[in-house]
Amino acid sequence: MCFTLEATDGAARAGVLHTAHGDVPTPAFMPVGTKATVKSVDPDELRALGTRILLGNAYHLHFRPGEDVVAEVGGLHAFMGWDGPILTDSGGFQVFSLRDTVLEADDDGVTFRSVYDGSPERFTPELSARIQERLGSDVAMCLDICPPAGAPRAELEEAVRRTTLWADRQRGLSGASGQLRFAITQGGLDPELRARSSAELTELDFDGYAIGGLSVGEERAPMFAAAAAAAAALPAEKPRYFMGIGDPEGVIEVIARGVDMFDCVLPTRTARTGSALTWEGRLNLRNARFARDTRPLDEGCACPACTTFTRAYIRHLVNQEEILGLRLLSLHNLRFVLDLVAAARNAVERSNFSAWSAEALSRLARPTEKDLSV
Ligand SMILES: [Zn+2]
Repeated sequence: MCFTLEATDGAARAGVLHTAHGDVPTPAFMPVGTKATVKSVDPDELRALGTRILLGNAYHLHFRPGEDVVAEVGGLHAFMGWDGPILTDSGGFQVFSLRDTVLEADDDGVTFRSVYDGSPERFTPELSARIQERLGSDVAMCLDICPPAGAPRAELEEAVRRTTLWADRQRGLSGASGQLRFAITQGGLDPELRARSSAELTELDFDGYAIGGLSVGEERAPMFAAAAAAAAALPAEKPRYFMGIGDPEGVIEVIARGVDMFDCVLPTRTARTGSALTWEGRLNLRNARFARDTRPLDEGCACPACTTFTRAYIRHLVNQEEILGLRLLSLHNLRFVLDLVAAARNAVERSNFSAWSAEALSRLARPTEKDLSV
């Protein structure tokens, strides 16, 4: 078994994902290294921040530099200098989220224009599995169909049907040594379709299951309801991965609904816009009110930015577009989410998750900088 469930508290779970490159305590946040790098942060820094597993992306690595190049130089772990676990996304989300680039989709695969040079390309379940085998990731994701938020029921139903069809074809394919394979459930916000997708994919028996097609721009309350329904329909003894959530409140909400793993570019993307995730809400460091602020970004944080530098200095760096400013904010934001998830795990182990999460959500909901400046 690739997953050990250690404790539950309500629907929230604490466990361990076992991979060929080591164990990952769950719940686990996976920093996103789309192009074989978590932007501006090196592997030693990621490790020091508490990262246990990274995410890479089959779509982008297929086009640049190509999975054969990565394989020939020793695989994705050696290529990017990270010896811990790596999960690779299948490319389905990239293909279908760039909808204008899709030329044709049928039961065999999907043809689209590459974002790199516009040339027509075709992904099939078999190619996606092959790319991830060549990359040598620890967890490979099945190619799926990811409809946009608000898609009509007929489109969601077709996505569920084709996603199951494709998962069935990927199930028996060869993978890298020790590589786990997760299927991705679909069904949008429709409870019946979510249940159907979970049931069909569970029947096919994968190492783990992702909840896909959510966090694509829909309202949050129905999204969390759909996540709860999707998680509850999956087998308790297998890991559950919610794709694409990484804001502090969202992370807590999906852990509360029984999710074990998640990823998002939010911490690093937020950093590149000059903002810090803190217990005071999101701080825009460009704001003049930080010009003489000698406090760290967040009082309780032990990241390299908070232990050494002031808000005043980081504001100066950000406003001058100095690279160090963006790097310090990236280190801090990753650490903030990783610490939050570690605290959530601790609360599950102590059977204190509901009290912990209520307090954490109320702290995070305090007036934000925007409210204060009105
Ligand atoms: Zn910090």
